[in-house]
Amino acid sequence: MSKGSLTLQELSLYRLQLQSLIDPLKEKVSELEAEALRPVAALANHPDRAPTHDADPETRDTEDRVALAILNTEEHVLAEVGDAIARLDAGTFGKCEKCGHAITRARLDVVPYARHCIRCARSAEATV
Ligand SMILES: [Zn+2]
Repeated sequence: MSKGSLTLQELSLYRLQLQSLIDPLKEKVSELEAEALRPVAALANHPDRAPTHDADPETRDTEDRVALAILNTEEHVLAEVGDAIARLDAGTFGKCEKCGHAITRARLDVVPYARHCIRCARSAEATV
């Protein structure tokens, strides 16, 4: 076993960790989707209850944008988790996709779906 490569036991732990992320993420995504869709429907059904102050639509708009931004992030993470599990199956998990070096355990423990080592992630300004 060369230095830096993950043992089978570690790999199966990361797999479990990744799999445990999926359901909460899916739940979060559907919650956020409901959240993002709800205000529009509520306003359509109750036009009288639309905010009357000038500031309110802007606040609402900002909140929607924040919810959508979170939704995009959660969906992105969900996709990354799926890709990471595919890499586990392919045997390339834990290897940087850019430089091919091993991704440190410290990084994988925080971001088990990381596809780049910390150095490449920083240079590319990517999140994973
Ligand atoms: Zn790298």
